[in-house]
Amino acid sequence: MHHCQTWSEKARMQINAQKSKVMAFHKTPAQKRKRKEQKKQTGSASQPTYPPPFHIVSAFPSHRQCSHPLEEVQEFHYLGLRLDPKLKMMAALHRIQEKVDKSNALVFAVSHSLRYDDSSHRHRPSINANPTQTLNLWKACVLPHLLQNLRYLTESQVDSLQVTLNSSLKRTLHVYGHPVALCADMGVSPLRLTQQVQLAQLRFRLTRVHKDSIPGTLYEITMTTFQYLPPQAMERLMEKAQNHLHPQPALQPPQVNQALPGNKEKSYKNWLKVQASDLWRRELMFLKLPTQAPGRLPAYVKYNSRDLERVNLYKPAPYLSIHHGHALDLIRLRAQAWPQYIPTHLHFSGRKARQQYQHRCCEYCHQPSALGDETHVFLKCPTTAILVSETVDQIHKKLRLFDAPPWSSFTDTQRVSILLGTSPPSLLKNYTKEWMQECVPLLHTYTTKLRSLLVTLLPPPPSESQDGASDEDH
Ligand SMILES: [Zn+2]
Repeated sequence: MHHCQTWSEKARMQINAQKSKVMAFHKTPAQKRKRKEQKKQTGSASQPTYPPPFHIVSAFPSHRQCSHPLEEVQEFHYLGLRLDPKLKMMAALHRIQEKVDKSNALVFAVSHSLRYDDSSHRHRPSINANPTQTLNLWKACVLPHLLQNLRYLTESQVDSLQVTLNSSLKRTLHVYGHPVALCADMGVSPLRLTQQVQLAQLRFRLTRVHKDSIPGTLYEITMTTFQYLPPQAMERLMEKAQNHLHPQPALQPPQVNQALPGNKEKSYKNWLKVQASDLWRRELMFLKLPTQAPGRLPAYVKYNSRDLERVNLYKPAPYLSIHHGHALDLIRLRAQAWPQYIPTHLHFSGRKARQQYQHRCCEYCHQPSALGDETHVFLKCPTTAILVSETVDQIHKKLRLFDAPPWSSFTDTQRVSILLGTSPPSLLKNYTKEWMQECVPLLHTYTTKLRSLLVTLLPPPPSESQDGASDEDH
């Protein structure tokens, strides 16, 4: 501190003692004890001759020496990051969560006014607000807080931040389904993978782009003593992330080599995102194996695997690019968020015990053993048969338009996938956008009709019938 003071005096600069704070990192117990003893001496002496724990002695701008006390704090904000003396980063995590809550409130307010404020004052949700708009708003206002200081957090802190992200995204879009399914549809990859992308990117910056800068040089010096670094050291985590996402660092991806020097880091980051998408896809596709227990997430993967094959999972699923009418039903249907209508989506149950996925039977038709999943409710259930045949006729025409194989050649799972807004198998990738433009409006109509039909078929909730019975008794 005194070195800083001497230097700033030489440079004719004055350090503002009121605005400067002191925080001692990783103080040992012995150091703490020593400091306390000094304080005691100060208290017992009649004159405070002993200076307070931290101070700067300055002879500038006045010529006589004077000492300015500096406050010692337990938390300090440095460039938006909240630091704590042990660098445990819990304070930083709480700060991120506070910021997320605040910007969430902002997004709520804006999306609410987008939906309800229109010039006609009809006070009904206008169709101008589509979920993609809300999603983009969320990605612009909330997501950056979650990503900004991600690289400093430990594994368990990242997990807890993921919980914050899931609930924030759910509440913003009003889709209360499986969080992983919703994130996959919206193009929000898991934070643990994004953290690795950031760490590998930082390593690239320090070793390739800004090698000759001060941070680059410091990094090089630290790396000479790599084996003595503690396991949680940033340099170790950076190596680990690099090995995970880019196991052969000697081979640079061609697009990075071709990029202009100023764009190299960005191009590398985009390439890393594709690698992270690959890793995530592999994890999700693993759930498709027959040995895996059935569940809501495996069902999502089963029906939407063609959408999950898109190169960059940091982008939303293709069906979301079409703005048409009331898109929320289709999003809910895909994200396993229709517990009132699709029996297998109901993973909790208020009165009865929670049922295993394979025991969640259809309640619409009276086939006692029929599993009430999407395949059954869309295609097999006699109660919804009329609805699907109408839609299939129209889809069949579209298939012919795109020279795709006919509807009858698809398996049940492929048919459900098409009804859920994925492009049919064997359709050329170039046609995906046109296909979505033609078909997504049809599917929105289908899901809305399906919901209105299923509402009428639902057995009355047990609470109402009981109340009715008790009313009659009285
Ligand atoms: Zn049924």
